[in-house]
Amino acid sequence: MSGQLWYRPSRLHLQRRDHVHCIWWIDSPTISGRLVFRDPRRFGGLWTFPSTEALHATRWSRLGPDALSISAQTLRRRLCQTRRPIKAALLDQHIVAGIGNIYADEILFAAQIHPLSISNSIFTMDYRTLSHTIHSILRHAIAAGGSTTHDYIDGHGQPGSFAKYHQVYGRPLQPCVRCGRQLQSIKVIQRTTIFCPKCQRIFNGPCVRRPLNTHTGVRRATSHMDKTPAECRSSDIRITSPVGNEYPSSYSR
Ligand SMILES: [Zn+2]
Repeated sequence: MSGQLWYRPSRLHLQRRDHVHCIWWIDSPTISGRLVFRDPRRFGGLWTFPSTEALHATRWSRLGPDALSISAQTLRRRLCQTRRPIKAALLDQHIVAGIGNIYADEILFAAQIHPLSISNSIFTMDYRTLSHTIHSILRHAIAAGGSTTHDYIDGHGQPGSFAKYHQVYGRPLQPCVRCGRQLQSIKVIQRTTIFCPKCQRIFNGPCVRRPLNTHTGVRRATSHMDKTPAECRSSDIRITSPVGNEYPSSYSR
């Protein structure tokens, strides 16, 4: 995670000036300093509005429900409106607001859902577990001050410590903390996505019962059925080079 909006008292030297796009000087009887907007990857932006009402009307009203408080029912209803991969849907701030790339990977791993699962397969997914996992991981991450994997710092210039709890993000080709299988890396809407091909089940369509083979008694997979990760298209998977993270500890869920 990169980019910062942070406060520096006037008496302190501004250490990093690279990629600083805007500095607000604050000068009041109670506080004096600078608010600095730094955005190396240019994912951020600045907009001005004449009033708070205008901000609500033109920006915030288009955001989905807050990920920290979204209910299981609302999450299911909103995910069922799209057939995009669930990783892409979780990153879409119009569907649910507040989930970034790191946390989408961690959430899907904890909920054991493959990132290429079709979003409207939610009827076959355990959406209650998914919503609970979203709340749990985001709250733990906020309590830890976020994830500093490169140069992320919070509004007071402090790094976050949640990266040491990452179970998949930043760990391609390392062993899964659950099963030991090698984690894989793919691109989903151009975002690096790390997952376990064994632990994370792929849900591939609306809930349809498998047709029963009357001779064998085994239900047959169809294009609408859930697939195992091994049935995922090989073209979707691209192995990337490993990184040297330490083995992370587990979340408390
Ligand atoms: Zn695994």
